[in-house]
Amino acid sequence: MPTTAAGLANRHRPSRQRRSAKSAVLIAALLLFALELFPSSSASAPAAPVVASGSLRLGRSEDGRPIVALRSGDPRGTRVLVIGCVHGDEGAGIAVARALARVHSGPDLWIVPDLNPDGYARGTRQNARGVDLNANWSSQWRGGGRPWDTYYPGPYPFSERETRIGRDLILRLRPRLTVWFHQHLNLVWAWGPSSDAGRVYARAARMRFYHHPWLQGTATNWQNHHLPVSASFTVELPAGSLSSLQVRRQVQAVLRLASALHGSAHA
Ligand SMILES: [Zn+2]
Repeated sequence: MPTTAAGLANRHRPSRQRRSAKSAVLIAALLLFALELFPSSSASAPAAPVVASGSLRLGRSEDGRPIVALRSGDPRGTRVLVIGCVHGDEGAGIAVARALARVHSGPDLWIVPDLNPDGYARGTRQNARGVDLNANWSSQWRGGGRPWDTYYPGPYPFSERETRIGRDLILRLRPRLTVWFHQHLNLVWAWGPSSDAGRVYARAARMRFYHHPWLQGTATNWQNHHLPVSASFTVELPAGSLSSLQVRRQVQAVLRLASALHGSAHA
């Protein structure tokens, strides 16, 4: 198999003008494909869409499980990132993520159903190395403890593959809104610049709003300090799995908040 667009195009070298036009289209398509596979890694560059729809493989977990992002909604809409699961024993948000992946209008939705597939497979809060992935971010990170402690933050910030995958995706997308699903407190937890967004979400989802500072080393702590124009908060779903009505409410809350943010100062 040829490995470059030029190589493949050469195999189809046109002998007539009509073929030449076809070839140009083919080359353009291949270049677009190559851009999708090898997008710019510069964090400061404008976040160009890297996949029109469907699934994008972001990397692999410690145990080699794929971590993917699904894209849905409307690419012209407000960019929203949803993380369905980060603690492996808190997987109810995966159903919300899957439902959001079927939305075809509204915001530009980027969905990571499961950022901790190893923990989810094992039924553990931590990843395969015993690290709490929501304590492994650099903002107010504090070391200590040992693997498999409940809040073990890892040996250093971003020591874990899964955390780095999440960070890199956020830096690439620079979403206007990020929703992190957890369990089992049944409330919406927001602080600082994300407080207003959290309140809107809580009202739409009919959940209690919990106004409280971020914990050390959490993803929301990092996002609120590094991307201040980007709302990012935690939705603590109730225990157990969600009913279809509960899933719909969460989906509607995401869509309503995204709609409220659309066209706002920092959109
Ligand atoms: Zn959690």
